[in-house]
Amino acid sequence: MNRLSERMVALGTARSEIRELFEYGKSRVAALGAENVFDFSLGNPSVAPPDCVNQTAMRLLREENAVSLHGYTSAQGDAGAREELAGDLNRRFGTGYTGDSFYLTAGAAAGLCCCLHALACPGDAFVVIAPFFPEYKVFIEGAGARMVMVPPETEGFQIDFDALEAVMDEHTKGVLVNSPNNPSGVVYSAGTVERLAEVLKRKSDRYGHPIWLISDEPYRELNFTGRALPWLPDYYDNTLVCYSFSKSLSLPGERIGYVLVPPQAADAPLVYAAVCGAGRSLGYVCAPSLFQKVAAACAGQTSDLAVYKDNRDLLVSALREMGYHCVEPGGAFYLFPRSLEPDARAFSEKAKKHELLLVPGDSFGAPGHVRIAYCVPTERVRSALPAFRRLAEEYRG
Ligand code: PLP
Repeated sequence: MNRLSERMVALGTARSEIRELFEYGKSRVAALGAENVFDFSLGNPSVAPPDCVNQTAMRLLREENAVSLHGYTSAQGDAGAREELAGDLNRRFGTGYTGDSFYLTAGAAAGLCCCLHALACPGDAFVVIAPFFPEYKVFIEGAGARMVMVPPETEGFQIDFDALEAVMDEHTKGVLVNSPNNPSGVVYSAGTVERLAEVLKRKSDRYGHPIWLISDEPYRELNFTGRALPWLPDYYDNTLVCYSFSKSLSLPGERIGYVLVPPQAADAPLVYAAVCGAGRSLGYVCAPSLFQKVAAACAGQTSDLAVYKDNRDLLVSALREMGYHCVEPGGAFYLFPRSLEPDARAFSEKAKKHELLLVPGDSFGAPGHVRIAYCVPTERVRSALPAFRRLAEEYRG
């Protein structure tokens, strides 16, 4: 008998609304032509990496010894690359990190999995704040832990602190946050972060163990607020930072990012060792070696991100004028308006009739909303506006 892991078969066969919409979009493009389909389903960057990326990659390919360039690095990543990453954060956030606090990963997804596997003990739960990246559930359960959700605070998509406190108990091992957020685009204010730190400190004292803050930061540089984002380890010692170059350098397919275990975290050397152990048990071996060096050399630079802000400004003002309710995103490249009927899936189906592909918010833990991934050329956003207007008019009757 061919016995397989039921959980893995279920994960491998589960339908993904985002992927299905994307595939549907491709069939509509084949039928109608690309100019008539408005695909806002996928969060793939729409701008090229900065010149530094290709220049560094080509220089390394030309000048470095090919055997070592493409060889394994140490499990935690190339020592020089980790020092460069530490230097970049120290310049920007006034910190004093060394490369020893960094563990290089295949993107934020791998970083999150390493942190969760490092921390999770039998019976542990991790809290996520809706709306949240749906893969969190897969990652948390994959680490053998339970996911607990805080319902969305729909006026501003900050954090409903009463609800957060209500779901925390002695089993709470950590809280996952993501700002700028996928899918709302919202940036947590310094006030939100201060209050979050206060709650985590109080609950850690009450339950007699550290409650970890896992900060998932692939959109850190996609910040349109004009203000620096709060650096979470400055507010709360027991923070693990999961960073990715997928969006800031437009490198999602190259799979490069890091986990930072700040030295002030409780038992930092042990936690760092557990992160390394988790990477080992998950078979990550080492992050892609060429892109460890490329990312380190380009850290602090970004793709030209202006298009995302332009798209945000255009969409928010046009959709509001048409009667859609949107919380203004401070970053990332997502907008998360309310659907024009309570059932976001039904709304998304109606949107399809106007060739608009919008992802229902249900799988993000926020029914009644749809996600618009506006990482597309601004002209695409502009040409989609009449379709958004026709969709709104359909509801006005
Ligand atoms: N976390 C969030 C919130 C994301 O939106 C994504 C990707 O879109 C990831 C993690 C995974 O990113 P990476 O490509 O770095 O693994």
